[in-house]
Amino acid sequence: MGIIVQKYGGTSVGSIEKIKNAANRVVQAVENGNKVVVVVSAMGKSTDTLVNMANEISNKPAKRELDMLLTTGEQITISLLTMAIGELGVEAVSLTGWQAGIITEADHGNARIKDIQKEKIVTYLNEGKVVIVAGFQGITEMGEITTLGRGGSDTTAVALAAALSAKKCFIYTDVPGVFTTDPRYVNGARKLHSISYDEMLEMANLGAGVLHPRAVEFAKNYNVTLEVASSMTEETGTLIEEDVSMEQNLIVRGIAFENDVTKITVSQLPNQIGTLSGLFSLLSKNSINVDIIIQNETGSKTVDISFSTSRSSLEDALAVLKAHKETLGYEAIRHEGDLAKVSIIGSGMISNPGVAAKMFAILAENDVTIKMVSTSEIKVSALVDEENMVPAVEALHRAFQLDDEENE
Ligand code: ADP
Ligand code: ASP
Ligand code: MG
Repeated sequence: MGIIVQKYGGTSVGSIEKIKNAANRVVQAVENGNKVVVVVSAMGKSTDTLVNMANEISNKPAKRELDMLLTTGEQITISLLTMAIGELGVEAVSLTGWQAGIITEADHGNARIKDIQKEKIVTYLNEGKVVIVAGFQGITEMGEITTLGRGGSDTTAVALAAALSAKKCFIYTDVPGVFTTDPRYVNGARKLHSISYDEMLEMANLGAGVLHPRAVEFAKNYNVTLEVASSMTEETGTLIEEDVSMEQNLIVRGIAFENDVTKITVSQLPNQIGTLSGLFSLLSKNSINVDIIIQNETGSKTVDISFSTSRSSLEDALAVLKAHKETLGYEAIRHEGDLAKVSIIGSGMISNPGVAAKMFAILAENDVTIKMVSTSEIKVSALVDEENMVPAVEALHRAFQLDDEENE
């Protein structure tokens, strides 16, 4: 009898009816002869509601207290789901993250899982019980409650699957799988049969919210077979696995995008060794995440440096830069908001030159101005005005034939 892990996201447990639906599916998996561990998110949008309540009290709530608050969301779901499974005549037990032995780093709001002390889960499974674990939460070695970052229940599920050497981890959600791009925005988006860990990792990191990036990292590192599927149908979803040879002929496998990006330019910095490191270590010391960086020599003695960051970091970044104007030695700073990042992803790019050129040509034909670019072996990202984001994705989706049924 093998272990499987099932994860149900917020929408999939968003009402009592949906919780009963999840309970039925869990019982079905038990009847099919599996030992089942279930990971759940908070009901519907309740995590957002909790965040909003905290923000009504403070515009910078203490991170420790925010974690204390947000972890209550998942605790509601585990108990209700456990009761619903019990009503169907199957024994289940609910565990918070800390009861389940999920040990994390001490970084409140974005903690990494360090270790899973799985003994308790294993004991319950051996007693024939279904184990229902609260996603997104853990505990530090000092006994402090932490959260894993928004969307982190996926990571709880995959980490448990790895620790328990589960046969498979199912991520049940409100879409029937991973699509070529977000189906909520693009009509022609198509479900993929499979996608490689590396491509999925890029997609997740570049804005495809269907999976938490760390969940994909775990799956890759521990070789967990992962399937993203609908919580409402029996349809097979998308497999995330090591090697995806079937679709190797497709150069671009997916398009990811995210808005709320801003670009900051620091101009007329001294053109000397140490300028870049001085600027970026200052930002990093102040926990400001920087994405794309461009450096331009503006004369023999000066350089301009532009970088992109999230809108939520803009104010902090500007404040830090202004406070260090003298030490950094720049002339002026300016910023541009309302930007978005559009990225094409596919492992076929490694051996196909000209993919970036084609992307730029398509964007130019569609009158989309590119503000910044970054590339890796398997992706090209372009920063564009936010209003151009969806049209750009649609144009790229068509031009790279992602809506073409023949490419399935
Ligand atoms: P859950 O609450 O189940 O974790 P999420 O909202 O976190 O669900 O993730 C599912 C959502 O991810 C979908 O509703 C969809 O809008 C979005 N999404 C973004 N990119 C993709 C993609 N490439 N394929 C499928 N869904 C995507
Ligand atoms: N409830 C958390 C969130 O909304 C975690 C999750 O759903 O994965 O971010
Ligand atoms: Mg999610």
